[in-house]
Amino acid sequence: MKRIGVLTSGGDAPGMNSAVRAVVRTAIYHGLEVVGIERGYAGLINGEMRLMNLSSVGDIVHRGGTVLRTARSEAFRTPQGRAQAADNLRKMEVDALVVIGGDGSFRGATLLANEHGIKVIGIPGTIDNDIPCTDYTIGFDTCVNTVLDAINKIRDTATSHERTFIIEVMGRRAGYIALQAGLAGGAESILIPEVPFSLEDVVQKLLRGHARGKLHSIILVAEGAGSALDIGKYIEEKTGFDTRVTILGHIQRGGAPSAFDRVLAARMGAKAVELLLAGESKKMVGIVSEQIKDFDIEWALQQKKEIDLEVYKLANILSI
Ligand code: ADP
Repeated sequence: MKRIGVLTSGGDAPGMNSAVRAVVRTAIYHGLEVVGIERGYAGLINGEMRLMNLSSVGDIVHRGGTVLRTARSEAFRTPQGRAQAADNLRKMEVDALVVIGGDGSFRGATLLANEHGIKVIGIPGTIDNDIPCTDYTIGFDTCVNTVLDAINKIRDTATSHERTFIIEVMGRRAGYIALQAGLAGGAESILIPEVPFSLEDVVQKLLRGHARGKLHSIILVAEGAGSALDIGKYIEEKTGFDTRVTILGHIQRGGAPSAFDRVLAARMGAKAVELLLAGESKKMVGIVSEQIKDFDIEWALQQKKEIDLEVYKLANILSI
C-alpha cells in the first residue's frame, strides 16, 4: 500500500477537518501518499480527487465544516455507481480509503470493500452520536455546547418575560443531543424518541412548578420526538402560559470544534491510518471508556446503541 484516500460523507460535523488533518499527517509521517476526495461518494464517482500534502491540511484544525466538503449520493447506492467509484480509485492507484461519516457512509464503504476489494476504515463523524461501538462521535460534543449556549441565552429571555420555551434540537432517531444539552442546561422536560412520554405529564409538571412560584420553563425536544410547534401549541392551550418555540436548526452543525472533538478526531484519524498500515480493512474506529478501539464494521452496524436511561432519569430527578 502506497497511497490512501480520505473523504467526508453524509451530514457534516465540527471536527471533521481535524480528522482529515490527522489522517493526512499520520499517513505522510509513515511514508504514505494521500488523495483527498471531495464531496464524499458523489465526488468519488465524478473523480474529484487531488493529492494532498502537509500544507493542504494546514490551518484547518480549528475550523468547522469540512474542507473536503460533503454530499449525499444516490448513485453510490447502485452497483454501477460503486463500480465507477472503485475504477476512479484504481486509476489514482488508491487501494485503501478512510471514510469519515455516519452509519450510512459506513454501509456504503462496506459495499465498496465487498464488491471491489478496496480496503476501508470508518471514522464516526456525526453530531447525532448515534453510532454503535463508540461512546462519542466526532462533532457531538461541539453540537451539545452550541445547544447549551442557545439554552443559556433563551433562559435569560425566558426569565425576563416569565415564559415557557420549547426548544427543538436535531436528532431524528436519537435523543443524545437533547439529553446531554438538556441535563447540562437544566431543562424542565426533555423529550426524546427513545423514551415514550405523555404531554399531559409535561403539562402537569409545568403546573406544579408554577404553583411553587416558578415563572419560566425550558422544554427540550429532539426533532424525532415530535414537533416543537405542535407541542408549544398544546402546552399553551392546556396551561395558558405565555409560550414560545425556538427551532435551533443548522447552527447546531457549525462552529469551531471543541477541544474534546479535536482530540477525539486526532486520535481516531491516526488510528485509522495505523489500521491500514497493519493491513486491516472493514473496521470502524471507536472510543470506549477513553480508549481508542477498532471494531468489525459489519458487526458494528448490526449493533444497537442504547441511550443511557440512568442519565435520562437523573435529568428528570434534577428538574423535579
Ligand atoms: P450518514 O453517513 O451521515 O449516515 P447518509 O445516510 O446520508 O449519511 O449516507 C451518506 C451516503 O452514503 C449516502 O448519500 C450514500 O451515497 C451512501 N450510503 C448510505 N447508505 C448506503 C447503502 N445502504 N448502500 C450504499 N451506499 C449508502
